[in-house]
Amino acid sequence: MYNVNSLKAEEFISDEEIQETLVYADQNCDNMELVDAIMEKARKRKGLNHREASVLLACQNEDKIKEIYELANQIKNDFYGNRIVIFAPLYLSNYCVNGCLYCPYHLKNKHIARKKLTQEEIVKEVTALQDMGHKRLAIEAGEDPENNPIEYILECIQTIYRIKHKNGAIRRVNVNIAATTVENYRLLHDAGIGTYILFQETYHKESYERLHPTGPKHDYAYHTEAMDRAMEGGIDDVGLGVLFGLELYRYEFAGLLMHAEHLEAVHGVGPHTISVPRVKPADDINPDDFDNGISDDIFAKICALIRISVPYTGMIISTRESQQLREKVLPLGVSQISGASRTSVGGYADPEQDNSTSEQFDVSDKRSLDEVINWLMRLGYIPSFCTACYREGRTGDRFMTLCKNMQILNCCHPNALMTLKEYLEDYASEDTKILGMKLIEQELEKIPNPKVRERAAANIHDIEGGERDFRF
Ligand code: SAM
Repeated sequence: MYNVNSLKAEEFISDEEIQETLVYADQNCDNMELVDAIMEKARKRKGLNHREASVLLACQNEDKIKEIYELANQIKNDFYGNRIVIFAPLYLSNYCVNGCLYCPYHLKNKHIARKKLTQEEIVKEVTALQDMGHKRLAIEAGEDPENNPIEYILECIQTIYRIKHKNGAIRRVNVNIAATTVENYRLLHDAGIGTYILFQETYHKESYERLHPTGPKHDYAYHTEAMDRAMEGGIDDVGLGVLFGLELYRYEFAGLLMHAEHLEAVHGVGPHTISVPRVKPADDINPDDFDNGISDDIFAKICALIRISVPYTGMIISTRESQQLREKVLPLGVSQISGASRTSVGGYADPEQDNSTSEQFDVSDKRSLDEVINWLMRLGYIPSFCTACYREGRTGDRFMTLCKNMQILNCCHPNALMTLKEYLEDYASEDTKILGMKLIEQELEKIPNPKVRERAAANIHDIEGGERDFRF
């Protein structure tokens, strides 16, 4: 029944295979010989399959968990360096015809304020985002073929890319909208989107159907096969995710890795990113109503295991998580975080207004972007606003090749420094600027290729003189 190459959801995410994997993991979690052999394989930095990774997830040995954390940290440093890419979500519309039990946008919610941004309002939102320093957005919308048809989403993308306020620009728009058709994915691809993101919510079919009782999202196969359609439509950067808290985390973890293995097997390229959201309180949603909430420790272990199982995949932590929790998981392999996010429709341009009732969920990390950037640098990370890869056509396996050849230090590293310099010049507070200048000076030295190092230094000098948008 289980077939990684099948295009049928129930075959590449086979329930039987997941159940067997969980039994195998339980039987072997104390088998230290096997655990060590799996760790040995992970050290080769070629990843782990869902069975191997599930054994490590089930393993409770404190020393081994420490080893997993250390390896996750090393792999993150080897492949991604100390850069953390920054983005913000932009909520376009919260009209939705689905009945998702965990989301306040569900159709039956009659007291939430329903809003859909006009193109003029998008200009205001994006101007506010650019004025903070953002260069990369993830657009979000409920599923509603009448209020949010694909034409609306495409028009919004066009508007967003057109807006140039002062030195600002949105250079990469990632898209998180409901599963759709191959034709619509092709339209999104042609509109120049970055990553297409779609969270599976849960890989457990029965729970999925119960949690999505009504609306088009009820269809498990259509949702689970969405990434294959997206790839067929020409999008080769796709972002997976599970909404942790809905189902047993060990089941979700195995399903997530099986999905990644499937994409790699069929399309030759795994997921560009993996997100790890947890259910949060929202308008009429109480996370305690779901039985499978996970502790911060298990959350951290999942992050570390994702890092060692799929070393080339970016990992995203949103502002659903607190500063403290983010600080705990950053060293375990996170490569992207959102900053200063608003999950309400229109929340960036009008933060004073009472638009909390259109919010999708409560944000835990409420700091300004400048505070987030300052904090990252104090922790030793380089905040990056880089969007170069996809603008240079380095998507899908071309990005992976860069990563696998360890060319990140000659490419992503200088790009991060140049975009950080733009941020410091245009948007940073005095303290952040001083901190950032020092960091750039130190980090320039780490570029191995002398020609690249010289070019990067010259570009950084020119950014000070007013030029913008350099990239390798
Ligand atoms: N409507 C689109 C869809 O159906 O996939 C995507 C957009 S939705 C705004 C983005 C994600 O927010 C969902 O996929 C879900 O995982 C997450 N979400 C919904 N309710 C949430 C809650 N209460 N807490 C945390 N995340 C939530």
